[in-house]
Amino acid sequence: MNLSDFSIIILSFGCVVLATDIDKIEWGKHHDNKEVFEILEAVNKRCPDITSLYHLKYRDTSGNERDETPRGNKLHVLAFGTSEPGRPEFKWVGNMHGNEVVGRELILRLAVDLCLGHRNGNPLAASLVGRARLHLMPSMNPDGWEIANDPSAPGRRTEVKGRQNANNVDLNRDFPDLDRRIYELERAGTGPFDHLFSNHTGRCGRQPETCMVMKWILTNNFVLSANLHGGDKVANYPYDESRPDSPNAYSASPDDRLFRQLALAYSSGNPAMFDRRYACPAEGGSDGRPNPFRRGVTNGAKWYSVASGMQDFNYLASNCYEITVELGCKKYPPGNELPRYWEENRQALVNYMSAVHFGIKGQVTKAGSPVAKGAAVITVDRIDTDGSVLPILHNVNTGAHGYYHRLLTDGPFAVTANAPGCAPVTKCVMIDNGVNLERWSARQVDFHLCADAAATGSGKPRQIDSSCEGVLVDGE
Ligand SMILES: [Zn+2]
Repeated sequence: MNLSDFSIIILSFGCVVLATDIDKIEWGKHHDNKEVFEILEAVNKRCPDITSLYHLKYRDTSGNERDETPRGNKLHVLAFGTSEPGRPEFKWVGNMHGNEVVGRELILRLAVDLCLGHRNGNPLAASLVGRARLHLMPSMNPDGWEIANDPSAPGRRTEVKGRQNANNVDLNRDFPDLDRRIYELERAGTGPFDHLFSNHTGRCGRQPETCMVMKWILTNNFVLSANLHGGDKVANYPYDESRPDSPNAYSASPDDRLFRQLALAYSSGNPAMFDRRYACPAEGGSDGRPNPFRRGVTNGAKWYSVASGMQDFNYLASNCYEITVELGCKKYPPGNELPRYWEENRQALVNYMSAVHFGIKGQVTKAGSPVAKGAAVITVDRIDTDGSVLPILHNVNTGAHGYYHRLLTDGPFAVTANAPGCAPVTKCVMIDNGVNLERWSARQVDFHLCADAAATGSGKPRQIDSSCEGVLVDGE
């Protein structure tokens, strides 16, 4: 045996010892930051054809590219499925509050399940991964997790120790306060009512974790997302911040019906969340009071007002719809309780990921070519039972290759594609999300703007598709 043979044996033996076997992960314990990365890496190695592993980056105020938290950790993401035009992008974010750890473990276990399920030919895993692109980030606040687990740090991790990042900032209060801006615009009645944040310099002076996630949100065309927290049992939806004139009141967004349906997609999959008899006891939940949340959902502002949170930033800055889920009563449960949290939330995770196929999607072309990213705007009117038309004052725009995706509730809608220099085109669609879920696809509705010379030029009248006859009232 020569030296090189010997070194191969050492290397291969080393691999056997070090590699994480994802079939044999102990789920009744917590995983530290190193273990989280090792599991993501092992899933990526086991399922290389359907996963990619990356971490987030941003540019600081000096223009330097950064990719670390204050303590030098990275925000790792494992993406399932390939990026293809028209395929919706979904994200899970866990552990934003470092001591709220259930989401972190659920996302990790979900990653392993999707990979092994796909490899074993499980049809559900194949559909979840094959029909959407799923981005899984187990921890947005790895520094907070370390602080929560540092015996020398003051406080209790079952309360708030480790909630903040290492600079003592609550990351869910560190995003631009776009609610305040939208409330001003609503009062003025002028709009715009969406895409309210643009960072022309690409530089960011907030907390590194916030900057990285903001860039992630703004540069991907996410359709749907959830931010997983702990300490109560409820799916919380925008707006999170109270309107200035009505503190503690329900603060509905233009997509209130849709957000309720999305939140219900989650809560209805978790009986312990959906059924109000299972209120959280005193250890960090609702202090033993009867569960105040009907069917396990709540409007954020109605519960308690949060300014500068992440879910409203998603909604008001991008095409992404995000809810915030409180997964269970304990922020930091003992490891042996984690399997129960998994069983309680497993179906809800599947339901919610599947909701990325709600609504409609399609391609917008202009004079025969796909429009550029952001170049066409999709506006939506809900058509009421009496035929009246109710505008939803929140638009999405096109992503790469002219593709858009608009989540919608069930029912009839008039959907209009708008691009500069072309007459807008309106089509009427009946949405049945049950059918969408059976097909694992949103309904496909393409728009061809400036398709003929008569429709070219600004100020041309709206072209209304024959599908709207008898649905839209005169003059619409
Ligand atoms: Zn939290």
